[in-house]
Amino acid sequence: MTPIRIHDTRSASLRELVPGPGGRVGIYACGPTVYARVHVGNARPYVVFSMLKRYLEHEGHDVTLVVNITDVNDKIYDAARSLGVTSTALASEMTEHYLADTGALGLGRPDAEPLASESIEGIADLIGALIERGHAYAVEGDVYFRVRSDDHYGSLSHRAIDDMSQGEDGEGTSRKEDPLDFALWKGQKEEEDSAWDAPWGRGRPGWHIECSAMAEELLGVGFEIHGGGNDLAFPHHENEAAQTRMGRGGELAQIWMHNGMLQLGGGTMGKSLGNAIRLHEVIADVGRDALVMLFAGAHYRQPMAFDDERLAEAGARVERIRDAARRLAGGESPADMRAQRDAFFAALAEDFNTAQALGALFEWIREANRRSEPVGRADLVEMLAVLGLENLVEAEEAAGDADRELLERREAARAAKDWAEADRLRDELAERGWTVRDGPAGPELVPLRR
Ligand SMILES: [Zn+2]
Repeated sequence: MTPIRIHDTRSASLRELVPGPGGRVGIYACGPTVYARVHVGNARPYVVFSMLKRYLEHEGHDVTLVVNITDVNDKIYDAARSLGVTSTALASEMTEHYLADTGALGLGRPDAEPLASESIEGIADLIGALIERGHAYAVEGDVYFRVRSDDHYGSLSHRAIDDMSQGEDGEGTSRKEDPLDFALWKGQKEEEDSAWDAPWGRGRPGWHIECSAMAEELLGVGFEIHGGGNDLAFPHHENEAAQTRMGRGGELAQIWMHNGMLQLGGGTMGKSLGNAIRLHEVIADVGRDALVMLFAGAHYRQPMAFDDERLAEAGARVERIRDAARRLAGGESPADMRAQRDAFFAALAEDFNTAQALGALFEWIREANRRSEPVGRADLVEMLAVLGLENLVEAEEAAGDADRELLERREAARAAKDWAEADRLRDELAERGWTVRDGPAGPELVPLRR
């Protein structure tokens, strides 16, 4: 198997991916807190780790991708209160939206999408282990993690222990032994409408503990890749790592893989985009192909500019692939174009560089366009499938015999100068989703777009 290297935040270096028995690769990526429709920025980790799963499966690994859904959280209580609905109702409505909005990306779904509210048993078990080992303490219905009891605390995000703040806004300060400690369990407050029973009192889990518990339950301790946005490295991932290290005596994950943030409004956000930065609005506006292409065009670790110009460029790249695909033949690609295909996969093997891989893909297309005879499309489909963009080629194959017969009849009508019949056939083709365009080899069918 091809050696695959991925940048690991904890060791600050590229590390070779070492799969478990049978090529098993477990990936856990932190998912959304469901208090509102997802922002296009939330889609980046979803896209990165969905594409990574596709790539690793292409390489023959048996991948399990877990993306959690945080459905118990302060933000949900706050949003539900201001909307006058229960937190459970808001979280379940927004979970439905999240599933539909990310589903519209067309990249498939993770293998498991656990809800915090359905994982309380595992969460309580891990908290119990931490208390028993002396790394956590219960006080007045809350439970806190004793940060200074972990000698390795700060080793993931590379921070000195005295420069850290948990960002808990002074909450629980009077109950914490040390301001650095963070909440594992929060006793129910009067204004909170959901709670679960636990040995240390009725309440609900803190945010960080759910990921340690759900990842362990679904992937075991020491699984291969833990992912998420780089804004989560501290405190969220630092705390996840500490909880599992001290509660279970092992490292939660081998590789910590972080994606860069989306940068909104760096360029112009013109009238086509407006303030439409929620995922479903962007997809409705430019289509999923352009959005997926935009994400693939940036290295996952880099910040990514998001504006009208970048979306238009991505749309133009989609068109270049569609145009090239129309001139391809079925079947195997020529052996003397193998170098570009291999360069695509080599770029992915070295820290999942989709930007460089796309460069190789467009080299392949340039070469295909130079050939006088149509070349086989197999390599292009193979590359696009890893990015979830194989539909750009497959759509071209969808013109059936009936469509082609209509095209031939239209050409015959035009040759006979029967313009009325030619127009009627053109309209019939349009109803079937096709427009006619003059290509180098004569008229061809092109899918109609919005
Ligand atoms: Zn998490």
